[in-house]
Amino acid sequence: MLATMMYGAGDVRAEERPEPGILKPTDAIIRLSASCICGSDLWPYRGSNPIAEPLAMGHEYCGIVVEVGSEVKSIRPGQFVVGSFCISDNTCPHCQYGFQSSCEQREFMTGAQAPLVRVPLADGTLVATKEIPSDDLVPGLLAASDVLGTGWYAADAARVQPGCTVVVVGDGAVGLMGVLSARQMGAARIIAMSRHEARQELALELGATDIIAERGDAGVAQLKKMTRNVGADAVLECVGTSESMMQALDCARPGSMIGYVGVPHGVEFDGQQLFFAQKGMLGGPAPVRRFLPHLMDLVLTRRINPGRVFDLELPLADVAQGYRAMDRREAIKVLLRI
Ligand SMILES: [Zn+2]
Repeated sequence: MLATMMYGAGDVRAEERPEPGILKPTDAIIRLSASCICGSDLWPYRGSNPIAEPLAMGHEYCGIVVEVGSEVKSIRPGQFVVGSFCISDNTCPHCQYGFQSSCEQREFMTGAQAPLVRVPLADGTLVATKEIPSDDLVPGLLAASDVLGTGWYAADAARVQPGCTVVVVGDGAVGLMGVLSARQMGAARIIAMSRHEARQELALELGATDIIAERGDAGVAQLKKMTRNVGADAVLECVGTSESMMQALDCARPGSMIGYVGVPHGVEFDGQQLFFAQKGMLGGPAPVRRFLPHLMDLVLTRRINPGRVFDLELPLADVAQGYRAMDRREAIKVLLRI
């Protein structure tokens, strides 16, 4: 089969690889309905994470189960399933508390930019639909696997409440899904921080009420002006740079929460600054599995359309072109047709 491998910074190839098989009795093999490229795939692509050996890329997936191991009980061949980028048993104490992304058996999904993929801990990780969804719902269900689940977690961790004022830092796919999530949770005012016109438009379409185009201190000043100098009730940090993290902290009012889901790169905090800021932070890899049943239901009943985040579709064979387009910010998120 044709699968995506990353050999080094800027070097992604679609090449022939052996098809995956069942390795453990708790595994499932899935035939993907579509795949996609994640913003986090750009960290190694841009050389921010060293690559010791070729990486099998892709951690977002949905599709039809073709085979299950002997110990898999609830997942059956023929079902349409969506899973998280975090593999979890969904039974350990952390999973029971809703933090499946800290599962005692946690693994991170790889190899999903391919037609077939092996999913470990299938019973805990996968959620099946009642029937096979129509093709036009596949992009939205695929988004639930990571970007939507992560944006939703950012909003949940930031404790977005009906009527509150939310700031979203970051206009990538996750930030845009954070806007959609805050809207679903009933936020009255959703302020998206974005400098790019096409992304501003999509943010407004997904539920943003205001846009701040300025960055850094100028952006914070603008936000303060819009909130009677108080700051926001909830802040979603969806980038992970030092600048975006500071921007998020400075936008939050004392007593509020910052949900941070951009993987931090080069971020450092001053203890005293945090102490006197009186702001809470909860983040990390999103426990998408906690939200999946609800998010899949919202997509299947067409109450939300997170598939809007895909603005470029390519065949899997052209995956390198997709990485280039996202790296140059010519595309928000690339859907790969299998
Ligand atoms: Zn667990």
